Amino acid sequence: MVVREEIEIEGISIILERKNIKNLYLRIKPDGTVKVSSPMRLSDEVINDFVLSRIDWIRDTRAKMLEKPLKPQLKYVNGETHYIWGEPYTLQLITNEIVKKAIYDSDEHVIYLPVPKRSNIKQREKILFELYRDEMNKNLSYFLEKCTYFVGKEPKEVKIRNMKNWGNCRKDKRITLNLKLAKKPPVCTEYVLIHELCHLIEFNHGPRFKALMDNFCHNWREIKRVLNEEQ
Ligand SMILES: [Zn+2]
Repeated sequence: MVVREEIEIEGISIILERKNIKNLYLRIKPDGTVKVSSPMRLSDEVINDFVLSRIDWIRDTRAKMLEKPLKPQLKYVNGETHYIWGEPYTLQLITNEIVKKAIYDSDEHVIYLPVPKRSNIKQREKILFELYRDEMNKNLSYFLEKCTYFVGKEPKEVKIRNMKNWGNCRKDKRITLNLKLAKKPPVCTEYVLIHELCHLIEFNHGPRFKALMDNFCHNWREIKRVLNEEQ
C-alpha cells in the first residue's frame, strides 16, 4: 500500500509517499519535483527534520535542474567585467614574463591578468581565482574577528578553497570558505561566515539555526539573495 500526500516544508512542496519500506529516501526528479518515501508509521516530525537537514541541498539541486540552459559563460577575455568585493572591474590581459599574479587598480577599476601566450579559459580563470584567494586570505582576520565577536564561537581553522558551496563547517569545527566570495560584496562573506559559525552551536538548518541567524545577522535572507545573484 502507498499513502500519498503533498506537504510543504520551507516553501518547497514535496510529494510524500508512505509505504512498506525500512528507510527514508529523498529524491529530486529532473522536473524539480521533490519526492520523499517513508516507512508507513514514521512521524511527521521525523520526516520534517529529515527534509530540513537537507534543505540547502534540495534548494541547490532544484535550482541547478531548473536553471535556464543559456547562462552567459565567462571567457576571461579583454574587456570582460569581473567583480572584486562587489565592485565591477574591466579585465585586461597582459603577457608578462615577470608578473605571475593578477593585480588590480581600484582607481581605474582594471584587473590585469598575466597570461601565457595562447592561454585557455581554464588557465585564465585559475589566475583570477588566485587573486580571489589572496583577497580572501588578506581579509580573513578582519572577517573572523568581526563574525566570531557576533556569534561568540571560534572555529578550529578556516581554509579558503575553490569549491561548489559558499562555505562548509565540519563537526571538528573546521570551516572552509569559497574563494569566489571575494567577487561579492564583503557582507556576503560575513553572512557565510556567520552561517558556518552558527553551525558550531547548531549543526542542522532547523528552526533553532534560523533563530540564531536572525539574531546574529538579521538581514541574512536579503544577503543570501545578493550572494546567489549571477555575476
Ligand atoms: Zn549550513
